[in-house]
Amino acid sequence: MNQHDPNRRAFVAGAALFGSAAAAAPAFAQNKAASAGTDAPMTAQAARFPQPPYAAQQQPWPGLAERMDPRPDHGERTYRGSGRLRGKRALITGGDSGIGRAAAIAFAREGADVAIAYLDAEEPDARSVRALVEQEGRRFAALPGDLRDKDYTTRLPQQVMSQLGGLDILVNNAAYQQWVPGLEQLSDEQFDQTMRTNLYAMFWLTKAALPHLQSGSAIINTASEVAATAPEGLIDYSMTKAAILTFTKSMAKQLAPRGIRVNAVTPGPIWTPLQVCGGQPKDALPQFGADTPIGRAGQPVELAPLYVALADPAFSYSTGQVFGATGGDPQPGA
Ligand code: NAD
Ligand code: MG
Repeated sequence: MNQHDPNRRAFVAGAALFGSAAAAAPAFAQNKAASAGTDAPMTAQAARFPQPPYAAQQQPWPGLAERMDPRPDHGERTYRGSGRLRGKRALITGGDSGIGRAAAIAFAREGADVAIAYLDAEEPDARSVRALVEQEGRRFAALPGDLRDKDYTTRLPQQVMSQLGGLDILVNNAAYQQWVPGLEQLSDEQFDQTMRTNLYAMFWLTKAALPHLQSGSAIINTASEVAATAPEGLIDYSMTKAAILTFTKSMAKQLAPRGIRVNAVTPGPIWTPLQVCGGQPKDALPQFGADTPIGRAGQPVELAPLYVALADPAFSYSTGQVFGATGGDPQPGA
C-alpha cells in the first residue's frame, strides 16, 4: 500500500480507531491480538501501538514500567532474534525499563548474555528482565546501584567480566530528565544530578570498560533528538544529550584503530517511565508524540532493531554515526 493508494486514508483511519480503543488495554493484550498476523504489512504492525490521547498519570521518580498505563511494549511478546549476537556479552545501563529493557530483551533473543545496571527502586522491573533473558537460555547479571557513585560505576565492567566472562557491548543508556518551566526553577541539585547521571557516569563507565573491550566490540550511547531541538523546559538534559553526541564522535575516532565502534541513537518521544516521572509536564503527557509525523509516541520495542544493528559486528563500517528513531522528525544535525 503506498501513499497514493485510495484505500490508504480509510485504512489509516481504521487503524487509528483500533489504536485508541486498544490504548486502555495492557500492552500484552494488544500484542496478543497483533501476534495473530506476524507477517502483516508494516503499516498494520505499526497500527497496533497505542495512539494518543494517553491516560494522564504520574509516578514518583524513577518509576516502573510495570505501573504504566498502557504498559510500554519492550518486545516481550514480539521480538524475534536470529542469532546476530551469539556469544556476546552486553552491559546496558537502565536496562530494567524502557529503551534499555527493549535492547536487553532483543540482545538475549539474538544470543547474547546480558547485564543490566539500574536503581534499587527498580527491582520489580529488573526482575522481569531477568526472567525474560533467562527464558532464552542466556546468562543474566543484575547490577543495582547509583550511577552517580563513581566507585559503583567504575566497578561495573569488572563485575560483568566475572559474572558473564567478558564484555563486548556497552550501552550507555541511563539518564535523568526533569522538565522545569524556566532557568530560575532549575536547581543546582537537579543540574548536578542530570550531569552526573547522563555524562559523568558515561565517562567513568566507558573509561573503566575500555581495558576489557576487544576488537569487534561496540559502544552504543543513547542521546536524544533534543540534542538539536532543545525544548525550553529541558535545558540541563538537552545539554547532556548534545554532549553525548560529541563524546560519541570523538570516541569513535579514538577507538576505530582498535576495532571498537561507537555510535549514538537519538530517540524521539518514546513511551517509558522517564516521561511519567517529571520528564514531561503532566498536562502534555496525553498528547505525547502526537505532533510527530507518525502521530504517536514510539514504543521501546521499535528501537530494539537499531540497538541490535549497532551491536552487530557485521555493521562494521559504521562508527561515530547518529541514528534516529524520532517518529519522522528531522535528525540532529540533518
Ligand atoms: P527509563 O526510565 O525506562 O530508563 C532510564 C533509566 O535510567 C532508568 O530505568 C534507570 O535505571 C536509569 N537511571 C536513571 N538515573 C540513574 C542513576 N542515578 N543510577 C542508575 N540508573 C539510573 O526511560 P527511557 O526513556 O527508556 O530512557 C532511556 C534513554 O533514552 C535515556 O538516555 C533517555 O534520555 C533516552 N531518551 C528517551 C526518550 C523518551 O522519550 N523516552 C527520548 C529521547 C531519549
Ligand atoms: Mg527504570
